[in-house]
Amino acid sequence: MNNSPSELKMLIDRKQIAATVKKLAEEIRRDYDGLNPLAVGILKGSFVFLADLVRAIEIPMQVDFVKLSSYGSGTRSAGRITVLLDLNCSLEGRHVLVVEDIVDTGLTTSFLCNYLKQKSPASVRLCSLTSKPSRRVVDIKIDYLGLEVPDKFLVGYGLDCAEKYRNLPDICEFQEE
Ligand code: 5GP
Repeated sequence: MNNSPSELKMLIDRKQIAATVKKLAEEIRRDYDGLNPLAVGILKGSFVFLADLVRAIEIPMQVDFVKLSSYGSGTRSAGRITVLLDLNCSLEGRHVLVVEDIVDTGLTTSFLCNYLKQKSPASVRLCSLTSKPSRRVVDIKIDYLGLEVPDKFLVGYGLDCAEKYRNLPDICEFQEE
């Protein structure tokens, strides 16, 4: 990004993001062709990634969103999760692909995958653009993973810090000054 504030350090630039999205979309297209999958984005962070991903997948599919909340604020998620906005379609017999921007402790995606599995889908798989394996507290399988990232607080490409920086085209490390 031009004129980056000094608190931002480039970590994954837009070219690398685009190549990663393309690779993930090819894998997903291969596995889901003919299955009419439902992509479920986790708001708000996944909205940019999901928009790029579903356009690159190029097979018939649907898109919906959930919004989850964990208690607490700041730069760490706190573990207790509630559903703030639920899906308004049936999942019965559907192939569901959860789309997330980052898996950190794994609590959010683990909660959501278990929650969705109770709604009788044919399958539930997880796609995440990034993962911080060093932070994991629950064992969660990421079926389609873009990039492993270090234990830093990231912003951009949908990821925020107090609602700022979601619209950065690159992913940057947020350095507290
Ligand atoms: P988890 O439940 O896996 O610990 O965390 C998942 C959620 O925490 C993500 O959806 C995201 O909202 C938030 N999160 C985790 N790491 C980061 C990060 O580095 N930057 C930002 N902006 N959010 C993060």
